[in-house]
Amino acid sequence: MRVAVVGTGYVGLVTGVCLADAGHAVVCIDTDEAKIAELKAGNTPIFEPGLEEVLQRTISAGRVSFTTKLSEGVDGAAVVFLALPTPPQDDGSADLSYVLSVAKALGTLDRPEFQIIVDKSTVPVGTSEKVTEVIRKEGGTNFTVVSNPEFLREGFAVTDFMKPERIVVGTDDERAVQIMTSLYAPFVDDSRPLIITDAPTAELSKYAANTFLVAKISFMNEIAHICEETGADIDTLRDILGSDSRIGHRFLFPGIGYGGSCFPKDVRALYYTSEYYGYEFKMLNASLAVNAQQHAVPVERLKEHFGGSLKGKKIGIWGLAFKPNTDDIREAPALTIIDMLLEEGAIVSAYDPEAIENVKLHYSRAKEITLSYHKYAAIEQADALIIATEWQEFREADLERVKTAMDKPVLFDGRNIFKSEDMRTAGFTYYSIGRRAVVQPN
Ligand code: NAD
Repeated sequence: MRVAVVGTGYVGLVTGVCLADAGHAVVCIDTDEAKIAELKAGNTPIFEPGLEEVLQRTISAGRVSFTTKLSEGVDGAAVVFLALPTPPQDDGSADLSYVLSVAKALGTLDRPEFQIIVDKSTVPVGTSEKVTEVIRKEGGTNFTVVSNPEFLREGFAVTDFMKPERIVVGTDDERAVQIMTSLYAPFVDDSRPLIITDAPTAELSKYAANTFLVAKISFMNEIAHICEETGADIDTLRDILGSDSRIGHRFLFPGIGYGGSCFPKDVRALYYTSEYYGYEFKMLNASLAVNAQQHAVPVERLKEHFGGSLKGKKIGIWGLAFKPNTDDIREAPALTIIDMLLEEGAIVSAYDPEAIENVKLHYSRAKEITLSYHKYAAIEQADALIIATEWQEFREADLERVKTAMDKPVLFDGRNIFKSEDMRTAGFTYYSIGRRAVVQPN
């Protein structure tokens, strides 16, 4: 099938190359010329495990191509995906300007064959209708708009796209159902259903899924505070909760809070939608408050540890990406923590295996910190180390080297990657989430 994907970011690029890998003929379109040039050369502009291999394979097979020209890219496509940004506006609502401006441009194009325009961006209920109206207003005919939210996780995006837990298609157009079913046939089986529903249900499903996950994380972060106060063991508690099949083991890890380009914005956008319909979605605000509180925990603990001030203290940060296996730093907790440390007068030295270039390019205070390409160099002479992202290489770190690099080893483990007892034996003063502090005698 001929497919066009408008917007070649985390979602669009993965969608494009994975559909091409399954045998479709795909054109990926983006306004970013540098990105398109890089993709044409077979290089991925983002770090995503397995993506470059699929990209190069599909380029070699001649099934994917890249362009900056919308009209050229969508010409003759049976399906046009919109994988465009929907960032939060000041009031929390999703900014639909990228989606609607492309819809407007699509409206002006000739469409001799029936075409399906697919909203793959995370968009509020009613967007399919809005996109339809905009295209029609520009004179567009012979099309339908379908909602097809994307559930992939950064860091596992290729696997998630190739082996989705479900695919959701929202439409009441029978032709669209047939075409979307055939498009996704290579990715569907008995355990990976294609769920056909109406557009509002599909649109809401993505927000519901993300905010439910956020509720799980936030619950664990709150219960972690109670564990810390009472001495209850958060790790055993997590096992006990997770063994209950109604709860499940996943997303029960307490930490310094969630980040990324989706969770924070989707919580705010759903809150805005509910308010718009006259309902106050109370759990959403609570989860945002818990999350903000979690970001502050390492700074507060270390401040306490150093007698009330972090002025002049050198703090090493391991992990800048919002989670492991990605270079994405959008709304990364590490950056919020660095902001707070700088406000406290601390000296910050940070390391991440993949995200340093993005920090240099997109973090407004990058010049005020030292960015290191080596994890041990980042903590040379540091007064404390904060682990902000649970990269595997931090779990495997040589603790003796960490100890030697720092004068008196003080570690705040924001992702609970180590065990308190091990850290006590290793001679660290060790803070983590939901567990009592390990303090070494002076
Ligand atoms: P992104 O910022 O990585 O990519 C968006 C791309 O669109 C960029 O490359 C940008 O240059 C391009 N673009 C902007 N305007 C354009 C235009 N007029 N024409 C062509 N291209 C244009 O964003 P993303 O992370 O891929 O997210 C896209 C959407 O998918 C968002 O709504 C997001 O909420 C949703 N989503 C994201 C993820 C994720 O993990 N990143 C997962 C599921 C859903």
